[in-house]
Amino acid sequence: MKRTKIKDVFKQTETDVKILVKGWVRTRRGNKSVNFIALNDGSTVNNIQIVVDLEHFSEELLKPITTGACIAVEGKLVASQGKGQTVEIQAEKIEVYGSADPETYPLQKKGHSLEFLREIAHLRPRTNTFGAIYRVRHNMAMAIHTFFHQKGFVYVHTPIITASDCEGAGQMFQVTTLNLYDLKKDENGSIDYSRDFFGKQASLTVSGQLEGELAALALGDIYTFGPTFRAENSNTPRHLSEFWMIEPEMAFYEIADNMDLAEEFIKFCIKWALENCADDLAFLQEHFDKELTERLQFVLDNDFKRLTYTEGVEILEAAVAKGHKFEFPVSWGTDLQSEHERYLVEQHFKRPVILTDYPKEIKSFYMKQNDDGKTVRAMDVLFPKIGEIIGGSQREEDFEKLKNRAQEMAVPQKDIWWYLDTRRFGTAPHSGFGLGFERLLLFVTGMANIRDVIPFPRTPNTADF
Ligand code: ATP
Ligand code: MN
Repeated sequence: MKRTKIKDVFKQTETDVKILVKGWVRTRRGNKSVNFIALNDGSTVNNIQIVVDLEHFSEELLKPITTGACIAVEGKLVASQGKGQTVEIQAEKIEVYGSADPETYPLQKKGHSLEFLREIAHLRPRTNTFGAIYRVRHNMAMAIHTFFHQKGFVYVHTPIITASDCEGAGQMFQVTTLNLYDLKKDENGSIDYSRDFFGKQASLTVSGQLEGELAALALGDIYTFGPTFRAENSNTPRHLSEFWMIEPEMAFYEIADNMDLAEEFIKFCIKWALENCADDLAFLQEHFDKELTERLQFVLDNDFKRLTYTEGVEILEAAVAKGHKFEFPVSWGTDLQSEHERYLVEQHFKRPVILTDYPKEIKSFYMKQNDDGKTVRAMDVLFPKIGEIIGGSQREEDFEKLKNRAQEMAVPQKDIWWYLDTRRFGTAPHSGFGLGFERLLLFVTGMANIRDVIPFPRTPNTADF
């Protein structure tokens, strides 16, 4: 007999039919004559109820069927008499694949703390919460590929190992096969990287953008979606050392087109979640975030507010003047902290905000310079509860301006000669942005800590599993 996934069991309209399900026991309870097993197979957050008539099953067989055990159940699908479910299965045959010793299986009771579950990240997908999060994460990945594919974007795989550290100097993880126990240094105390694996210093990428631009200036519209690495020592609920980033890059897009795409893209993903993850979102809403679907719907229904960094800072300064207390100071020229971003979004505009035209000093060398000589055509999309969810810009397409700005910001030309070449040969206006996949997931799931929306989080001092 073929196994039916529990998700499909609930879709089945015909009852009084034979059925075979397999999964992990969430609970077993009952009395002397009948037992009820709640079984979950990961296909849905909902458990199927297995009814076990003790006349037909021995204590011996049922004994190993405790929380966490894996079993197969063959039986009859019937309309349920109990409340809480529409159908249930009357067991006729039960096979135990694997028991889970109640003394040592860590997931006994409901309501383990998220902190505790992080310590058992190898087992936490067995919980309703992480089952839901894994499924939503999968769905968001599908939404992202679908969105760009439908728009004719080409998915480009940019390298993970890179030898150009122009962007992330100081926050990159080095990749080396040099013997760290016996490092040879020259008379100046420098390491001779010509003896290293790649013949030069190499690192894990912080962004696929530069290579993405090369592709965009040939294929038109492209996106990357892959792992990125940052060795920044920021222990916050919004930063990971290894995270996934979606980076579209579009030829012939100006900053306004870039903003429109970002807004359309996020809304597409949120709509997808509401349409395809209703059960999981309802579960997460009930247990973690009462306003979750309301907030998602709110983002769908409202235009993102667009304003310049300068205007944003004026609003923040006015708030300070009226007595609002921020932890960090704010004035023109400073990078905005999460608290500032959230003030604009949550208190002032009460909807997502896109800030543009940041001071060039706090942004990267490749951003298009404005005529004022002070600002660049950057854009950050700011979201409730999260702060920055997207960072992007129109790129500097002028060879001289780009080269000079790189020099001013101490980016060695020898590392980016290939990047500069795109501006020497057939340059074009173009734009792009980066969306942190886990930041999107924080928003869509309503979880508060980024460690809980990736299966195996990597953060300072944590790389278990
Ligand atoms: P932040 O100021 O929040 O550290 P950033 O300015 O360093 O972000 P970018 O370099 O612009 O971010 O990266 C693009 C996007 O990648 C960000 O908008 C964010 O969604 C995501 N992101 C950046 N750093 C991290 C991180 N350490 N963990 C998870 N996501 C991140
Ligand atoms: Mn950062």
